[in-house]
Amino acid sequence: MIHLDIQTVFVMVILISASLSLTIGWMARDNADGLRAFAGALGCHAVGYLLLALRGGIPDWISIVVANGLIGVAEALFLLAVRTFRGWRCHPALLAIPPLLVALGLSLSMDRIQDRIVIANGTFIVQNLLILRDLLRRPFPSPVRGRNLVACGVVVSIAMLAGRVWVALFHPDAVSAPFQSSATQQASYLLVFMVIVLIANGFLMMTKERSDAELRHAALRDRLTGCWNRTHLEEIVGREIARLQRYGHPVAAILVDIDHFKAINDRHGHDRGDAVLVAFARVARDSLRATDVLGRWGGEEFLVLLPTTGLTEAIATAERLRAAVAGHDFGIGAPVNVSLGVAACLSTDTWSDWFRRADRALYRAKTEGRNRTCADGVVLAECAAAETGGWVYQLIWRDAYLSGNAEIDRQHRALFASANRLLALGCGPRHDAAALKAAEAFLDETRAHFADEDRLLAAAHYADAERHAQIHAQLLHRAEHLLDLYRARRIDLPAIFHFVVHELFAQHILVDDHAFADTFTRG
Ligand code: GH3
Ligand code: MG
Ligand code: MG
Repeated sequence: MIHLDIQTVFVMVILISASLSLTIGWMARDNADGLRAFAGALGCHAVGYLLLALRGGIPDWISIVVANGLIGVAEALFLLAVRTFRGWRCHPALLAIPPLLVALGLSLSMDRIQDRIVIANGTFIVQNLLILRDLLRRPFPSPVRGRNLVACGVVVSIAMLAGRVWVALFHPDAVSAPFQSSATQQASYLLVFMVIVLIANGFLMMTKERSDAELRHAALRDRLTGCWNRTHLEEIVGREIARLQRYGHPVAAILVDIDHFKAINDRHGHDRGDAVLVAFARVARDSLRATDVLGRWGGEEFLVLLPTTGLTEAIATAERLRAAVAGHDFGIGAPVNVSLGVAACLSTDTWSDWFRRADRALYRAKTEGRNRTCADGVVLAECAAAETGGWVYQLIWRDAYLSGNAEIDRQHRALFASANRLLALGCGPRHDAAALKAAEAFLDETRAHFADEDRLLAAAHYADAERHAQIHAQLLHRAEHLLDLYRARRIDLPAIFHFVVHELFAQHILVDDHAFADTFTRG
């Protein structure tokens, strides 16, 4: 059995409290984090224990009443520290009453150590419960690891104090003299030592976690509007392009530019202009989904990234955003409008390709009169009511898509029709046999068409036939990959639709295939 001399443990408690009080007080620049109050708590704790340890050498009322009163003050300052950290005020009564109660209670029970233990420790338990409540109250604004460590220390402390009260009430012999070296006494004061280490480290960790989070926030947010900044947007862009390439999840971008913003500045002043930017960010955020990412690209230009969203849905979102801004009162006596350029990312895009397409669409919106949404490329999908009553997207054939070769055009039309049958399956998360069969049939038809087209282009001596065949091979490879992912239930139908609509039709059949139209019309 380990034997500990209680007075030695007291000295350890005094030294650790005092040295932590000094170092934390030295670290605390101001009391914004509650660190000063916390250092004060540790200091009072050290002095309180010093007076307890001097029992016999100084008058009893000092080593009992004043000492325990100081420990009560330490608990009160700890509560103040936690409330300051959380940005809450602390009622002076909460600080003053418990230590006064302890002092009063003890001065009335000087001759009974067990009563003193019950009064002092009972009060400390109440103080610790108040601290625990303030620590755990939601929402906690920063990471919670340090907070949990502090809470752990407080719980241990409550358990220890409750244990002492229980012993005093039911086994008074175990706590019959101040420095009695009973198991209860040894365990309690060792736990006091442990609690101080837990709480002090936890509190420091709590402040560090919060300042780290604030720094990270400042590094990734735009200072004026609070939206994400360009650095963070570019990070997300990289991630989303990788997801599109790997899993086929579509992603679209909306570039938003406030119309005639310079005139707003000129007419109402720069500060008012700033306020319009802040209000715009709020209106935009309210009209977007939680998964959409709003960032300030620069000046009065904002970028919205829409993960798992294809072009058609992105256009609808852009229109909703435009209408929300146009309908908002910015308090400048005139409406504020925005122009928007929308582009979906293609799997072959780099960010600069994708951005250029969104920027081109924005430029068109500006030149076509502002306060409007323009999308990059051919919007060939339109919304139509399905027989099932839900809404689906359908491809619309136009004669402008003719390639000059009758057989190829026949096959293109047939592919349009098959694609529409596939799209009519709707955008639900279905993985049934019918949907898989339709997707497989569509892939087979595409493969057969590509083989025929390669043959016809070679026969017509089309100069770029070889490169075109390579593109076919890449598209088939990608389609097979997507189908595998779909079979493994790692993607849903919309990811396949995105590929069919944007890559196969918008990019390949309408753009790449257009390049060989001359070959046939000349011949
Ligand atoms: P357009 O409709 O063609 O977009 O015209 P515009 O006036 O909005 O565009 P232009 O690019 O000519 O002017 C943008 C203005 O935005 C100029 C610049 O002083 C102002 N601006 C950029 N950043 C800020 C900012 O942080 N605060 C304020 N108040 N103004 C800004
Ligand atoms: Mg501009
Ligand atoms: Mg502008």
